Amino acid sequence: MATFFCPGCWHDFNEDLIRCPNCGLVIHEFWNSKDYLEKLILALRHPEPTTPVRAAWLLGKIGDPRAVVSLIEIVKETDDLYLAREAIKALGAIDTPQARHFIRTLANHPARMIRAEAGAALSTKK
Ligand SMILES: [Zn+2]
Repeated sequence: MATFFCPGCWHDFNEDLIRCPNCGLVIHEFWNSKDYLEKLILALRHPEPTTPVRAAWLLGKIGDPRAVVSLIEIVKETDDLYLAREAIKALGAIDTPQARHFIRTLANHPARMIRAEAGAALSTKK
């Protein structure tokens, strides 16, 4: 059984609905108005846990600075260390001054995995 999600409120349904019954968003219209990068940024908040990790990885590969603010928010908000790690990697790859500054603030993060990833992201810089 396929599961569909509303990209506005992340409510899930069993069918591909035109309008979200939960928040009223016209899903197809909304989705068609977004470009690929915007869809990936929205996918950072997808409730199915592997999807945000893949989205963060792709955003790092694409390297578009428009993703920086959203990636920083995800690192701050998520409890998922794997997602945070992938987002830090992506920020390191995108490498804007804002991304670098944020990665430096993670040097004292309580999670060792996050400190290690932040260190690795900065050490690859020339
Ligand atoms: Zn919705």
